[in-house]
Amino acid sequence: MSHLMQNYGRLPVSFVSGQGASVRDSAGREYLDALCGLAVTGLGHAHEGVTRALQAQASALLHTSNLYQVPEQERLATRLCEVSGMDRVFFCNSGAEANEAAIKLARRWGNSLEQPRGTIIVMEGSFHGRTMATLTATGNRKAQAGFEPLLKGFVRAPYDDIAAIEQIARNNTDVVAVLLEPVQGEGGIAVPSDDYLPALRRICDEQNWLLMLDEVQTGNGRTGRFFAYQHAQILPDVVTTAKGLGNGVPIGACLASGTAAEVLTPGTHGSTFGGNPLVCAAGNAVLDALEDGTLMARAAELGERIRDALRARLKGNNRVREIRGKGLMIGIELTSPASGLVQQALERGLLINVTADSVVRLLPPLILTDEQANAVSAAVADLIEDQ
Ligand code: PLP
Repeated sequence: MSHLMQNYGRLPVSFVSGQGASVRDSAGREYLDALCGLAVTGLGHAHEGVTRALQAQASALLHTSNLYQVPEQERLATRLCEVSGMDRVFFCNSGAEANEAAIKLARRWGNSLEQPRGTIIVMEGSFHGRTMATLTATGNRKAQAGFEPLLKGFVRAPYDDIAAIEQIARNNTDVVAVLLEPVQGEGGIAVPSDDYLPALRRICDEQNWLLMLDEVQTGNGRTGRFFAYQHAQILPDVVTTAKGLGNGVPIGACLASGTAAEVLTPGTHGSTFGGNPLVCAAGNAVLDALEDGTLMARAAELGERIRDALRARLKGNNRVREIRGKGLMIGIELTSPASGLVQQALERGLLINVTADSVVRLLPPLILTDEQANAVSAAVADLIEDQ
């Protein structure tokens, strides 16, 4: 009997090593990793720069706590602010914690106003994490079921629907912030229209609301820019990230600008491990790799290549409803539930995921070669055609 709590339905395979876009299992079989541990290992497995940085930091100093200066953390914060246009960063250990920080920050910001406000607008189909506040923010009843009572102070709107936000603005005087993903990941790779984020930015400015973007999955180059909001040429007030920021090392970050960056004062929020020297060394190595923009441009190009190949191969296939995505977030929406495809792909040496019941989701690494990209699209098309 396993002594692990049974909150995961795990596939019957364990991996022992990885290199670039491939992983090897305990029986020596190699697999092409088109999932990256859910958008985490964007630079591939055993990335030289990350490994070197971790080895050097591990042999120098692992942890001292946030009671002291942490130079690696300062450096990573400065670099993240340069790349994002934000002013300050709070470091934590996961995406959920980064969003939890954003929610707390919004509440504290709202409570500092002359007429305090505390309601946060969140979206249908969203995913923000598994802590109580982020679960409440998440727009998935299945994930919430059994954990009631949920938190107060959240209102939900349909995604990519500006009229719905305007209606809330007219009727609800307690709103303090809007929290959303620039592309919904768990929700089925939902890409909003190009004018959605600019319109939200305008409404937030008019209403004095904080625009808070969850870039836990979309961030760190995955969509072709460091952050997905950079496609829309807007700046949020708060942005959260995690996953790809550490390439496999647990790190999360909540970035903020303007007055939102000043509300967390000593004693108001914290984390024992958050931003420790080891994880920040990994984060800095990830930024080193992304800095010149080549890999991000490559993510955009590879995403188009894979989507084009899938569209060409699956044209006219009546199991396919839509092929969509942004950069290396790729979704193939099928007409019926498809969770069985994950096991079938594994048997063929390919790691993929299915989300929102019927959306095959690919989140391959940014270091994919053209040949590997072709292999991913061919294998996924085969898999769908063979149904
Ligand atoms: N936000 C988004 C958009 C995510 O995709 C995820 C995880 O899938 C999370 C938050 C939660 O991140 P974590 O699992 O690191 O807590």
